[in-house]
Amino acid sequence: MSFQEIRAAIGPEKILAVSKLQPIEKIRALYDQGQRAFGENYVQEALDKKEQLKDLADIQWHLIGHLQKNKAKFVVGQFEMIHSVDSLELAQVLSRQCESKKVEQKILVQVNLADEESKNGFDKKTAKTQWEELCKLPHLSIHGLMTMPPLTETGEEVRPYFKELRLLKDELAQRTDLKRHPLTVLSMGTSHDYKVAIEEGATLVRLGTILFGARN
Ligand SMILES: *Cc1c(COP(=O)(O)O)cnc(C)c1O
Repeated sequence: MSFQEIRAAIGPEKILAVSKLQPIEKIRALYDQGQRAFGENYVQEALDKKEQLKDLADIQWHLIGHLQKNKAKFVVGQFEMIHSVDSLELAQVLSRQCESKKVEQKILVQVNLADEESKNGFDKKTAKTQWEELCKLPHLSIHGLMTMPPLTETGEEVRPYFKELRLLKDELAQRTDLKRHPLTVLSMGTSHDYKVAIEEGATLVRLGTILFGARN
């Protein structure tokens, strides 16, 4: 499917174009076709691209890759949203960095629903037990949840993970001051499983290769 066909099928506001390891020209080309939200994984690469594309006033940058605590100071206030907040410690560091830079930061809480050792994210139990502490951090607002299902599972096999993320968000919403933490975003689904993700309530699908082709 072409970009315009995907847009028409799921709605332009639901697409986050994942541009990691893609050249600037391809980002510009997609911007020229109407795309505004772009997701990057690596802090330095993201900041470089942001600088190179700063003439595009209404472009929006999201950070979706694993973030090391020692890089928190480089990212707060630089991204529309950080999707990859995967531990309470990282959230605490981000909030402290916001304090010193006098900014507020929108975040998503990344949940690892498969309990994979290799994957980053809160396991479900920890997300629940640490939720109040996350909500108390003064300079972060939690806009929703993000997940990345196991790579081995595709198509219908990923549906239970997407459903579980939606149910977890609904459950957490009952314990949340939604004026302070809106919890409106479900960031789930990539090139190969975005249709299932949309069916399960994704509000943002993170599309890389299907929009840009293979990465370098
Ligand atoms: C790279 C990446 C994507 C995009 O994956 P594609 O298969 O290229 O669509 C989405 N989410 C995260 C967290 C990624 O790192």
